Order: sequence, then structure tokens, then C-alpha cells
Amino acid sequence: MYYKKYGDTDMLVSAVGMGAMRYDEEDVKAGRFEKCAEVALYAHEKGINFFDSAPFYCDDKSEIITGIALSQLPRDSYYISSKMNLGTVGGKCDADDFKRRLENSLTRLKVDYLDFYYLWCMLDLESYKKQYDILYKYFEQAKKDGLIKNITFSSHMQGNDLEKVIETDAFKGMLIGYNALNYRFRQAGITAAHNRGMGIVVMNPLGGGLIPSNQKTFSYLAEGTDLTVPQAALRFVASHKEITVTLAGITTKQHVDDAVKSVENLVEKPAKEICAEFESKGVALNNLCTGCAYCKGCPADIDIPKFMDAYNEKLLGNSIENRIKWHWGIPMEKAAECIKCGQCETLCTQHLNIMDRLDEIALLRG
Ligand code: SF4
Ligand code: SF4
Repeated sequence: MYYKKYGDTDMLVSAVGMGAMRYDEEDVKAGRFEKCAEVALYAHEKGINFFDSAPFYCDDKSEIITGIALSQLPRDSYYISSKMNLGTVGGKCDADDFKRRLENSLTRLKVDYLDFYYLWCMLDLESYKKQYDILYKYFEQAKKDGLIKNITFSSHMQGNDLEKVIETDAFKGMLIGYNALNYRFRQAGITAAHNRGMGIVVMNPLGGGLIPSNQKTFSYLAEGTDLTVPQAALRFVASHKEITVTLAGITTKQHVDDAVKSVENLVEKPAKEICAEFESKGVALNNLCTGCAYCKGCPADIDIPKFMDAYNEKLLGNSIENRIKWHWGIPMEKAAECIKCGQCETLCTQHLNIMDRLDEIALLRG
């Protein structure tokens, strides 16, 4: 296993970590928790020492299953994280609510302290500020009490918002989505965090399943290697000098082996260099929306990044409708409300023909 230093700390963490949100669904449903835990134990045996869990993952069983595995291991042989935000305590929180939530995670994970506790899933600056104002003081107190070692945040924030949170220096590390699809617009945030000595953990390295389910399109990732396309996609992320841990969603022992293989003889390089090499392969991603959200602020209040993300599915041979209806849960008919002001196309970092794409989506609704 290849290990990296977590930010400016002394912690040595495995370059790939176990995202404990994908335990086998059937086994979880049937209550076969010991069997699920065997996969986490196998990951540890193969050198993975970073485990990422949270309430609600795997039908709210992830922490329980992960705890079964971790309780069989020496406490200094792994790092464990969990998460909380206002949503996990019913939208309001005082010191007791916070403590109950944290103690619940500790009990289920069978540990006395968490190595990382995330202010979880900050969607935008507004929700971040609200949650920070209410919750951060409780995180600090829990740290003083020895219940958590490091305060971290996880975010789906777009554009420059991420950098604004990093600049506060309130967090030891962050968890963000990064992959071969959205790498361009997240680099500034990654570099800023790295320069401030933060650890950077990456979720979603396979583009929400887009990469493994479209292996032909992404075959260039594995060119010149003995890796499969998903393994190569993990390696693409893990090779970034700035990125500390790449989380692989693991269900089976084979997934563990894949993750381990993806970082065999890893060579770290600065993000800029990796991306320049990547683009020199003539990558066919120019037509894809990267989700950067620079186009936001539509006067007709159309959530353009979500519609363009759905259009990606078409370019990859999948269904636009399924993505809009079932993944994003937004009304298809909204696409027809574009007033053709052109603002979004001027702002689009990928120079996409957004208006034409919306027209096409609008026609699908009938
Ligand atoms: S062109 Fe249409 S989608 Fe784009 S900003 Fe204007 S109204 Fe919104
Ligand atoms: S449409 Fe363009 S600007 Fe908007 S999220 Fe996609 S790539 Fe970014």
C-alpha cells in the first residue's frame, strides 16, 4: 500500500481509503453485518487504514458494520471518520443534541474518539454559514473533550465558494468530489487547501458511476497501463500530490483488490502536470458539463448545471429523463422556460451550447 501524510499532520494514511457507504445491499437488508464487516477487515489486511463512514449510509447500518470490523483491530492501526450536520439532528441543534449525535456515532463505531468529524455536505456558502454558526462551537468543544481529533468539512460547493471556506483556516481537512470529469474547476480549491496544510480526501472518484458504466468512452484513462478503466480512474485521482486519500466505494473483496492495485507503485505529481498530460491524450470530454456552476444565476431560475449534467448522460449513451427525474428530481418542463438571454453560454467554462441543449430536453417532456 502507498501511504501519504495527511496535510501538515504526522498521520500516515493509505492513498486509497474505504468509503463505507457501499456494503452489500442484500447482506445489509438481511442483517448479515458480520459478513459485511469481513470486507472492511480484508481492506485493513491489505493495508487500507482510512475508513469513511456516516449516519444514514447503507440504510443507517454503515457505522454499525464498520464498528464490528474496527473493534477487532488495534485502535492505532486505522483512522475513522463520521459526519454530522443540522439534517442529522432534525434541523435544530443545541449542545445536548450534538453530543447525542456524536455519542451515537462513537457507540456504533465502537471507538472512544473519531479521527475526523465532518461538518457534512455543505451544498453552498449560505448553508455552510448557517451550519457553521450553529455547530462549529460544538465541534470545538468535542475536540477539547477528546471525542474528535480533527474538525473537517465535506462539500459539494461549486466554483470559488470552496476557497472561501478553506481561507477561514477553521478546518484540518476537507472531503470533496473530484474525478476525471470535474477535475478542471476543482483544482483551485484543491491547491488552496494543500497550500494551507489541509488533508484532502476525495469522494466520487468514479464520477458517480459514470466512468465504470461507460468504459469504452473512458478507455483512454487506462491506455498504456495494466489497469482496468475504474482502477485507472482511481489512480488518476490518487496520483495528485495535493490529494491525500481517494475513497473507493467498496462492496466486495475484489473491490478492495482493485483499489489496492490502483495505487501500486504510485507516482505522485502536481495536479497541473497530471491534468496537462491527461488533456494531451486528446480526451473526448470537451462536450461534457463539468458541474462547475459558473453558469449559475439564470434569470429564469433554471438549474442549468443539473440539466447539463443530465445531458451528459445522453452523450454517454444513457437516458436524460432518468437523470432529471430520478437523480435530480426536478421538473423536465423547467427546461422550456429559457428566455434565451445567452448569459449562461457566455459564462460556461466548457463553451457548451446550453440553449440548444435545453431546447432538446424541453422537447423530451412531451
Ligand atoms: S440563456 Fe436561458 S438558461 Fe441561459 S441564463 Fe438565459 S434564460 Fe437561463
Ligand atoms: S454548463 Fe458550463 S458553466 Fe455550467 S456547470 Fe456545466 S460546464 Fe460549468
